Amino acid sequence: MEITPGLADALPWLRYARRILVFSGAGISTESGIPDFRGPNGVWKTTDPQRYTIQNYVRDRSVRVERWQARLEGRFSNAEPNAAHLAVTRLQRAGLAPVVVTQNIDGLHQKAGSVNVIELHGTSAEAVCLDCDRRMPIDVVLDRVREGDEDPHCELCGGLLKTATISFGQPLVKADMDRALEEARLCDVCLAVGSTLSVWPAASVPVEAVRHGGRLVIINEGITDLDGMASLLLSGRAGTVMAELVAALLGVGDSR
Ligand code: NAD
Ligand code: ZN
Repeated sequence: MEITPGLADALPWLRYARRILVFSGAGISTESGIPDFRGPNGVWKTTDPQRYTIQNYVRDRSVRVERWQARLEGRFSNAEPNAAHLAVTRLQRAGLAPVVVTQNIDGLHQKAGSVNVIELHGTSAEAVCLDCDRRMPIDVVLDRVREGDEDPHCELCGGLLKTATISFGQPLVKADMDRALEEARLCDVCLAVGSTLSVWPAASVPVEAVRHGGRLVIINEGITDLDGMASLLLSGRAGTVMAELVAALLGVGDSR
């Protein structure tokens, strides 16, 4: 079988990696049926990103009603991890990738068995009150929406409820970003999978890895903003390329 172009030549140095930081984006989950934002079938092809700023969410009831309705029809809860998520878990169980940094909110790394997942853009599994910061399982709020509460508010303080994800215009959680940057400084290879590496400050994680001597390996269909910084560009489907890469490092069928 033809191996992904570029992989064989890179194996001599890839095999020296002792600490790999996986940095994933929406493209790792498209094979699980969740659309990305900027890929060929991305959400931004049909939707205006400006509509989904935190400012609009707070200001405009119709945006909130629309978002909760979209969540009810939800794609996230039924999605299953694909070969790329499973390959990440395999790397982790082999001791090579202790931490995963993801921009995704879909929980698929954890569903695939990965641990120590830093979710830079939050999680769709919980809701949060924008006033008192109380968090709750998303299903508790979705049950209320299902029963007709189109724009649910916090039962304790009356504040607005929102999925616990980071919207445009919302700051990241500093502690999560600090941990991700620390991991970037420690790794010898940063493996960026399925991301245009164009969303900031998240994209500063692979940049930090390179600044501290790590090599950047990019697995993506299509160009990214950081291609010029990469030691290796592997173009192709995340599931196929990740499975090939991990098999090349750990051996085929080894379930460590
Ligand atoms: P992006 O949409 O900017 O880029 C995704 C990249 O992945 C594109 O270059 C696309 O061509 C590529 N791609 C798509 N399918 C692929 C596949 N099977 N194999 C390899 N490459 C593939 O995504 P981003 O850089 O993560 O930025 C979007 C932001 O949107 C993220 O910060 C994230 O928070 C959020 N988001 C998350 C999800 C999710 O949780 N699954 C989905 C959509 C958006
Ligand atoms: Zn509250």
